Amino acid sequence: MALVELRGLSKHYGSLAAVDNISLKVAHGLLVCLLGPSGCGKTTTLRLIAGFVEPSGGQIHVGDRIVSSPERTLPPEQRNMSMIFQSYALWPHMTVAENVAYGLTLRKIDRETIAKKLSAILSTTKLQAFADRYPGELSGGQQQRVALARALIVEPETLLLDEPLSNLDANLREEMRFEVRRLHDTYRYTTVYVTHDQSEAMTTADLIAVMNGGKIEQAGSPEEIYDRPRSEFVARFIGSSNVVKGKNLDQSRISFAGAALRCDGATLVAGGETAISIRQHDIRLLSTAPQSEENVVPAVVVRQVFMGGTRDYMVEAKDGTQLRVLAPAEQNIETGAPVWLHLPPERCRALMG
Ligand code: ADP
Ligand code: MG
Repeated sequence: MALVELRGLSKHYGSLAAVDNISLKVAHGLLVCLLGPSGCGKTTTLRLIAGFVEPSGGQIHVGDRIVSSPERTLPPEQRNMSMIFQSYALWPHMTVAENVAYGLTLRKIDRETIAKKLSAILSTTKLQAFADRYPGELSGGQQQRVALARALIVEPETLLLDEPLSNLDANLREEMRFEVRRLHDTYRYTTVYVTHDQSEAMTTADLIAVMNGGKIEQAGSPEEIYDRPRSEFVARFIGSSNVVKGKNLDQSRISFAGAALRCDGATLVAGGETAISIRQHDIRLLSTAPQSEENVVPAVVVRQVFMGGTRDYMVEAKDGTQLRVLAPAEQNIETGAPVWLHLPPERCRALMG
């Protein structure tokens, strides 16, 4: 287990900054998720940590060692890390047991120790029954567990995972999230886990670093990222929130589509403009005008879809801004009908920019 720290880390390809001056500290034994859309620099960051890519600027520290800097990059095999690739890369001609034990046989460890470690790891990854099978005879989820077992058996200080569940179908993907977390709780390696899937990050991570355009937009616990997004990008990407903009009226209210909205999260500067985020399920849809006008925006239903547990509405405010609202399924208001949106002040978060 080791502390992993990125300090002002950058990687340029020509004029493109694939990774753009990122800093992140991962305490030992924690699982951090790098979360962001395709192309935001997640894999490049992971390959920098693994030592497959040399940085253009900045440093990577592991424990008390500097493992990467533009002057000197320690080769991957000297980093005491295991990386699991998206494709698993299992050897098709080796059995499960041979695949898993391979890293130890390479290190010339005695047979008895290998047998003991192999049996322990096959048991935690629930693979005992498959020890003599070949990868071609396994399901996607079982292959995924073999890749995990093979990475864990060498007892790395740091475990690196690049979208490890993306080849699995939806049900299995959900199950394996908990499996990854359970294994992490058992072994407590410092883990860097790359994904573009918000709920995968929520279920597995201690710390989430949201990436966009090569930068870390915000890093924090899943609760922090979800409840207190700092930017429009994080609000939209994590909580699929609505973002509305308006002129500041005073320290806590903006004007939006003819209404005054009180919000939370920052002290507003008179004369400025502020964007606020509000989640789809936090907006209340009313079919008659309420008595109090506080945080109420008149709108019209543009479309609505029955989703089983909820009804998914698109509504349009007077200024043309469209908002999505998730309402109870039984609340059935027809397209074109006027509605009043109640946006609870404590759910309206002022964003920094
Ligand atoms: P992600 O894993 O988040 O999808 P990547 O780290 O793979 O993103 O890529 C980030 C950006 O860097 C992309 O625009 C990608 O095209 C570019 N990139 C990645 N590797 C290389 C490379 N070897 N040469 C040139 N551009 C690259
Ligand atoms: Mg990638």
